[in-house]
Amino acid sequence: MMDKSEKIFVAGYRGLVGSALIRRLEAEGFTNLPKRDRSQLDLADEAGVQNFFVQDKPAIVIFAAAKVGGIKANNDFPVEFLLDNLRVQNTVIRAAHESGVRKLLFLGSSCIYPKHAPQPIPETALLTGPLEPTNEAYAIAKIAGIKLCQAYAREYRANFISAMPTNLYGPNDNFDLETSHVLAALLRKAHEAKMRKAREIVVWGSGKPRREFLHVDDVAGACLFLLEKYDSPEIVNVGCGADISIRELAELICDVVGFDGELAWDATKPDGTPRKLLDVTKLNNLGWRPTIPLRDGIVRTYDWFLKNVAR
Ligand code: GDP
Repeated sequence: MMDKSEKIFVAGYRGLVGSALIRRLEAEGFTNLPKRDRSQLDLADEAGVQNFFVQDKPAIVIFAAAKVGGIKANNDFPVEFLLDNLRVQNTVIRAAHESGVRKLLFLGSSCIYPKHAPQPIPETALLTGPLEPTNEAYAIAKIAGIKLCQAYAREYRANFISAMPTNLYGPNDNFDLETSHVLAALLRKAHEAKMRKAREIVVWGSGKPRREFLHVDDVAGACLFLLEKYDSPEIVNVGCGADISIRELAELICDVVGFDGELAWDATKPDGTPRKLLDVTKLNNLGWRPTIPLRDGIVRTYDWFLKNVAR
């Protein structure tokens, strides 16, 4: 059991996942949560990070600090996605080990799996085939992070575990249309079209790819569950077990937002991987299930968007 006073460092606490983790930890009564934003601690700065770990001595680290983006950002900036993510994760994981943390949870992504992996994708599909080219750089960085955690476990018996969440959404998501993921982008597009009384919204690709979506509050719950119950370096998928097509997602979002116009398809934009549904048998067997159905999660996220982004 985790002590409520145990010091837990959430690297990337302002992001989509990090902020959800902090909300959840605080709600559960955890009181010792050191927060450092980029201006206080640059996670790519080795000396600064080492210094922080030596002085603050966190007992547990949750690694949720990543440069992330949607299909276009990943495709346009492979150098930054590869370099920034490798730099930050190498720095934090190493410093965590050297300062003697009790446990570390590394957050990966479902894009680590081969483009044509069997569906739903079991954890064993890792490194069995070529990756999806639009997010290969990000995926390679995440695979390196998993392997670094496994190496620490093997060589030093470190309790470094890794979770692979599916596509996430929720409060503090990025709603910038160039760099966001699909759910946030379509929420914004549908909202703005409704406000402008426009006839249509533009949706990228063919609408045929299928994706699985999990509310970030569920991911935060799964992370705490794994910190309590799971002590193996073998990766664990975190998803809800169901996927929908991008067309269905667009229709659902328009319905929630109350936009009754048309969908216009921009075929110049990539579809990316055809399907990305995680096999969550392992997590389910450990005893964890999500709690937020997709429609409810979109309603809550739209509400957050209205209060925080659209004002
Ligand atoms: P992915 O899961 O890594 O492919 O990342 P995204 O969430 O960015 O994209 C998922 C799918 O949604 C892709 O097939 C995109 O082409 C499609 N999509 C449709 N409209 C949009 C949009 O406005 N923004 C983004 N990011 N993706 C969109």
